[in-house]
Parts: sequence; C-alpha cells; structure tokens
Amino acid sequence: MRQILELQPNLHVLEVTQPEFTVRSVAVIGERYAVLWDTLTGAGDMAAFEPAIGTKPFHVVYSHADWDHVWGTNGFSRPPLDIIGHKACLRRFDEDVAMTLCDMQLAEPGKWDDIELIPPNLVFSSRMSLDLGGITLELHHLPGHSPDCIVGWIPQWGVLLGGDAIETPLPVAHDPGFLADWLDSLETWANNGDVKRAISAHGSIKGRESLDSTVDYLRRLIAGDDIEFESELDDFYRGAHQKNLELARGGDQGDD
Ligand SMILES: [Zn+2]
Repeated sequence: MRQILELQPNLHVLEVTQPEFTVRSVAVIGERYAVLWDTLTGAGDMAAFEPAIGTKPFHVVYSHADWDHVWGTNGFSRPPLDIIGHKACLRRFDEDVAMTLCDMQLAEPGKWDDIELIPPNLVFSSRMSLDLGGITLELHHLPGHSPDCIVGWIPQWGVLLGGDAIETPLPVAHDPGFLADWLDSLETWANNGDVKRAISAHGSIKGRESLDSTVDYLRRLIAGDDIEFESELDDFYRGAHQKNLELARGGDQGDD
C-alpha cells in the first residue's frame, strides 16, 4: 500500500507499507529544484511523487544504503540530476547491498526481479548543501544506525529529515562503536531550538517526537537505565530492543 501526505506546502511524504513495516520517502520542492529523499522498496514506489514534483529537475538523496531506502531508483519516468549519498553509502553498494538483494530473491523468488541497484554518483564525506531555490537542504553525516547514515536539514522550515538515524518506538543499532557519537550528534540537533519538525523514515512524524524520543532512548540505553514504552512493542521492535540491549552491554551477541 502507498500513501502520499502533504505535511506543508512543498513538503510531501510517501509511505509504503510492506508486510512487516512502513517506510517513508520525502519530497522537498524548492522554486527551482526538488529533492527526493530515499527511493523506497521498488520501481513502482516513486511514480506516486511525480504529480508533486511536476516538471522540476530533481536530485535523489539516499539517507543510507539499506534496501528499503534505495531500491526504487529505476522507477522514475525521467532521470534525476544526480544521486547523492555519503561516500560510505557508495562503498556499501560494493559490499552488502547486492548481497541483500540476492538473499531476498532467494527467499521470495519472483518478487524482487525488477530491482536495479543504482549507486550514488555524487558523494560527500562530512557535509553538503543543496540550493533548491528559496530553500536549502543541508546534508550532514550522522553515523549510528549504519556507518553511511545522513540527516537532512532545511533551515528555512526548521525541518530535519532523519532517515533511520531517528525512529520510533526505538532506533535500530548494529554496531556498539557508534552509540556514543550517534547520541552526541542527535543531542546537538535536539538542543537546536530551530528544529520544529523531525521526519523519520519509520515511525512518528509528529512534531519533533522521533528526534526527542530517539535521544531519550539512546541516553537510557547507554546509561543502562530502564526503558519504558508507551505501548507494547511488536515482534520486530521487541527483537530490535533486545539486540540493542545486548550491543550496549557489549557482550552476548549470540548467533540466533
Ligand atoms: Zn529503514
């Protein structure tokens, strides 16, 4: 299922629901250029954005190289100006990205045959800024969920595009080595009173909820404090929370 929402003029989100989760892409439309932040799960997803961007030239930005964020890039009826990602995102296209596709094709034959893996062709290492005409999208490296994660900041609107660096009910960690810096970077954003809205790829898009909640969660996780959730976690997040606890404790990563 696909659903488009207009959060404010020139800011649209597209939500795609897969059997186990929902993932979100964002269209940011300036006076001269548009940006599509992530291309989601397959070639059919992105056509839903075409009425919103009209004939404007557009950039594609990858928040990171996880499959549910980069598999829809061959679905545009006209090519993007460029495909932008962190340099570690490009590297992942030579590492795990093709392997994930292979694994999923084996697990569900026929379902993923039209996926074409398209790596970024414009990369950066720390920061990059895109002038869209009237608004700017700043890209900032923010490793944590994965080494290639970035966030996007639109100062004129006070909007932070979080990818998987922020998530509700909880973020998904894979490497304990990133936890402290991940929290540190998010705290800087959380302490920035100009951030009015934070848009996660999975979870809440209400105000700054996904940013503030992720900071609170990571703080407690690292400190070893109790963590409570507003409602009962589903199987996916229960498993992710358990793994996060094990990573933060630094041991017992099991093989299950
Ligand atoms: Zn994701």
